[in-house]
Amino acid sequence: MTILYNDRFVDRENIQVDIEDRGYQFGDGIYEVIRVYGGNLFCLEPHLKRFARSAKEIGIDLPYTPERLGERILELVKKNNLTDGTVYLQVSRGSAPRSHPFPANSHPVTIGYTVSAPRPLEALQKGIKTILTEDIRWLRCDIKSLNLLGAVLAKQKAVEAGCQEVIQHRDGMVTEGSATNVFLVKDGTLFTHPADNLILHGITRQVVLELANELGIPVREEAADVDDLFHADEVFVTGTTTEVSPVVAIDGKPVAKGVPGTITRKLQQAFEAYIGLPHQS
Ligand code: PLP
Repeated sequence: MTILYNDRFVDRENIQVDIEDRGYQFGDGIYEVIRVYGGNLFCLEPHLKRFARSAKEIGIDLPYTPERLGERILELVKKNNLTDGTVYLQVSRGSAPRSHPFPANSHPVTIGYTVSAPRPLEALQKGIKTILTEDIRWLRCDIKSLNLLGAVLAKQKAVEAGCQEVIQHRDGMVTEGSATNVFLVKDGTLFTHPADNLILHGITRQVVLELANELGIPVREEAADVDDLFHADEVFVTGTTTEVSPVVAIDGKPVAKGVPGTITRKLQQAFEAYIGLPHQS
C-alpha cells in the first residue's frame, strides 16, 4: 500500500517511525479522518480547515498548505484505487530527545494512508445501542488531537457492555460520543451540544444541521441533560464513518419505541442525497 510520508509517496514497508516521535510518545499531534465515497473525498475542504485549525491551536506549523495536502490526498486515493473507505491524515510535532516542552529543532512529520471500508449499513438500518459514561476527557475536545485515551477507554466500556458507542456526559450534561456527535429530538425540535471547547466540531454534525435547516426542522444548539435523553422522542449520533446512526437503546432502555425515529430517517435520506448515493439505510 502507498503511504503519504511528508510530501512523498512510499510503500508502507519502507516507513520507519522514530522511537522519539512526539506523536508516539506524547500524543503530540493532530489528525483527520476523511470519508471516500465512489473515489471522491467527501467534505475535503472542511476537514482540511479543521486540520489546519487543530495544528494552529497546539502550535504546530503545518509544513504544507491545505491545498497541497488536499492534492496529495487525492493522489493517494487514486494510487491505492480506493473507491469506498477513509483517508487517515496526521501530523506530529516531529522527533526530538524526549522532553515535554516544544523542541527547538523538530520538523513536523505528516502521514496519510487509505483504508478500504464499506458504509455501516446495519447500524444505519437497525440503529445502535449505547451506554452512558462520564466524560473524563480534557477541556479542549475541539482540537482533534492524537491523545485519544479518553475515547479509547470509553469505547472499550461500550464494547464490554455489548454496545456500539457511548454517550458521554459532564456532571449529567450530554457532550458527545467517543467518536461521534450526539443529537436528540423532542417534540419535533433537534437538540445538540453547542460547538464549543467540550466537543469536536463534527463535519457530519455541521452537514446535518444544514440539512435540518433545509428540511424546516427547528434546531437548538443547546446542551441536553441525561434526563432529556431518556425522555427524547429520538436520539442519533453522527460521524464521518458512522454517518447518521439511530440510537435505539441507552443503558439497556429503549429510546422511545426502540426503533429509528421519523426525523432521523428523514435526515438519513437527506444525507444520502447529499453524498450523492441512492437511499440504502
Ligand atoms: N466527536 C468526536 C470525539 C470524534 O472523534 C468524531 C470523529 O472522529 C466526531 C465527533 C465526529 O466528527 P466528524 O463528523 O467530523 O467525523
